[in-house]
Amino acid sequence: MNTVVVGGGVIGLATAWRAALRGITVTVIDPAPASKASHASAGMLPPGHEELLKQEHVLRLCMTSRDLYPSFVAELEEFAPAGFRRDGVLDAAFDEDALQGLERQEALQESLGIRTQRLGPRECSELEPNLAPALGGLLSPDDGSVDPRVLNAALITAIEALGGTVVRRSAVRVGDHTVTLDNGDTVTFDRLVLAAGCWTHQIEGLPEGVIPEIRPVKGQILRLHSDPPVLNVTTRAFSKGSSLYLVPRLGGELVIGSTYEERGYDETVTADGTFGLLARVTEVIPSAGTLRFAEISAGLRPGSPDDLPVIGPTTVPDVYLASGHFRMGVQLAPVTADAMVSYLTDTDPDPVVLPFTPLRFS
Ligand SMILES: Cc1cc2nc3c(=O)[nH]c(=O)nc-3n(C[C@H](O)[C@H](O)[C@H](O)COP(=O)(O)OP(=O)(O)OC[C@H]3O[C@@H](n4cnc5c(N)ncnc54)[C@H](O)[C@@H]3O)c2cc1C
Repeated sequence: MNTVVVGGGVIGLATAWRAALRGITVTVIDPAPASKASHASAGMLPPGHEELLKQEHVLRLCMTSRDLYPSFVAELEEFAPAGFRRDGVLDAAFDEDALQGLERQEALQESLGIRTQRLGPRECSELEPNLAPALGGLLSPDDGSVDPRVLNAALITAIEALGGTVVRRSAVRVGDHTVTLDNGDTVTFDRLVLAAGCWTHQIEGLPEGVIPEIRPVKGQILRLHSDPPVLNVTTRAFSKGSSLYLVPRLGGELVIGSTYEERGYDETVTADGTFGLLARVTEVIPSAGTLRFAEISAGLRPGSPDDLPVIGPTTVPDVYLASGHFRMGVQLAPVTADAMVSYLTDTDPDPVVLPFTPLRFS
């Protein structure tokens, strides 16, 4: 079985790796693998959010991926380090509304069997001495983060170690079991997975409507640096009806995100974006201004028409979609990859992915 995966972001790479593990011959086509949303991403792996209560099928998808993460990483680490940390996520409330939100979040997590610990103001500052005084917090000790840059590099190493190929070209057109590249070469496939993020629907050759439009939603994201790290665990700071996430890496990087902007395919970083993130992080970490400025970058989240992932077979035989993961692609990579491999091997996927069929847009 010869499978071609168009798009080497975290979704395409995870799919290709899991497929290669099952003995499938894989070719990933991408002009610059792991350089887009999956490169910008913070890699936060939170325990869930009360917003998900409104959409139980999404909650089930997230929980399944959360359960898969440790074994996914353990298997990947047979090839290379994956940058996974499962040492806690702190939700910290900085106003009364946010404090009430934590109560609802606690009830949700308990109903899902997620280990949860309620923290008072003193316990918050004992855990995170550099955080501004919080009114209270919720610690989820079994959740955490993954460094997507480390994860993506590990996936490429693993694919190549298993005999897979990464072709650094763009796919332009899909024909009858062939993909035409931007240099005119063609690559043949038995099965094709289209996982090109917010560019997926731009690939030509398929009948209209087979690939729903995947719109770009820009996120600017800041990286500061300190030695030692300024925070101990991944933190979501809730205040004024919104949240700021702060993801520390063991090497001293602190990732702070992010903006949500609908501006087409514009990937520029702006003064406003930088200023806004710096202002917000300084409210939460008063000493943030003394940290080394490391990077400001932007990525385009792939947003489907209903903002939910698109995973599964299309109406065209042997052509599959894995896209539209919007703000949860890193989180949902294990469940997506395993579902795609089930489809590619003609076995039933985990039923949690069924609501995300591309056919819902037909
Ligand atoms: C600022 C920011 C922060 C985020 N934080 C988190 C987070 O904390 N947790 C989380 O779970 N998610 C997060 N996300 C979302 C997550 O990054 C995305 O959902 C995920 O990266 C999508 O992966 P992808 O592989 O579908 O797309 P991408 O990473 O965009 O990859 C698509 C790939 O397709 C390639 N491509 C495009 N056109 C073609 C073509 N014609 N031929 C071949 N290849 C092509 C591109 O080069 C690219 O490598 C964040 C996103 C952003 C922008």
